[in-house]
Amino acid sequence: MQKPRPHLTLPFAGSPLDRRDDVRRDEAAIEALAKGGRALFLPLWQGQVFVLHDGQMALLQEAALAHLTVADPGSVFLGTMGETAQPWFALALDDDAGFPLEGLGEWQGLRLAAAHLPAPDLAIAGRASALLGWHARHRFCPNCGAPSTPGEGGAKRLCAACGSEHFARTDPVVIMLAVRGGQCLLGRQSGWPAGVYSALAGFVEPGESLEEACAREIAEETGVRTGAVRYVLSQPWPFPSSLMIGLIAQAQSEAITLDDELEDARWFARDDVRAMLDGSHPQYSAPMAFSAAHHLMRAWVQGEA
Ligand SMILES: [Zn+2]
Repeated sequence: MQKPRPHLTLPFAGSPLDRRDDVRRDEAAIEALAKGGRALFLPLWQGQVFVLHDGQMALLQEAALAHLTVADPGSVFLGTMGETAQPWFALALDDDAGFPLEGLGEWQGLRLAAAHLPAPDLAIAGRASALLGWHARHRFCPNCGAPSTPGEGGAKRLCAACGSEHFARTDPVVIMLAVRGGQCLLGRQSGWPAGVYSALAGFVEPGESLEEACAREIAEETGVRTGAVRYVLSQPWPFPSSLMIGLIAQAQSEAITLDDELEDARWFARDDVRAMLDGSHPQYSAPMAFSAAHHLMRAWVQGEA
């Protein structure tokens, strides 16, 4: 019998904030936390965080918000930190004019920031980006088309016209390695850096189980047939708001037939994948170290999957 695997906490997961189920549905309590003088506000602009010269993620206090143009939905409640229960909020700026920390750092997209931000900060920033991005794309009621307004500290949107409510969503994506005889199947898209090969991935479609989505995506992209599927890991992925679900699938065929999505796909031996992950392969590279694909490949190389 297979031993249980240790739990993996990937980049963008593992936020230290307590989401505070006891107050997050109470608008008045959230308002009091925001205006109580103790709150910290994480500013985002165009999906980027402001990273100070010392490598810290910039946070603002309430007084600093006065001259900033904050986009819909205003401040969203992220939770509280530690024993002091310091409240944390996030907000999106309409523009960065008058940003109080101008000159003390730079705006960075989360892919860039992922390489150096401390893991807890990255998890908070990822959630803030996914949540604020969801609001920016859902300003109108999907039921009747009327403008909607944020509720519950940003956890949902409400439509006064038809009375419906809509909760912030995350989209499931399967990311998987087909494996067979000590080899795994990796592919690459034409726009990727030269030599990079990664796990196949795709959105779960309505009416599909994870297993079905996994088999369909592999078959569509490479023509390889797969059978049994095993869950390995998951990762919130804020580009813009997905949940990556890492799977290993047993391949039942080897011949590869490419579709339009991939430039190439091929079978890689374990030693090759190990060298790709370590950056020592003469020809091929693994995807970025903060990606689910990277960790899925590593789990397979280490025999944990
Ligand atoms: Zn409506």
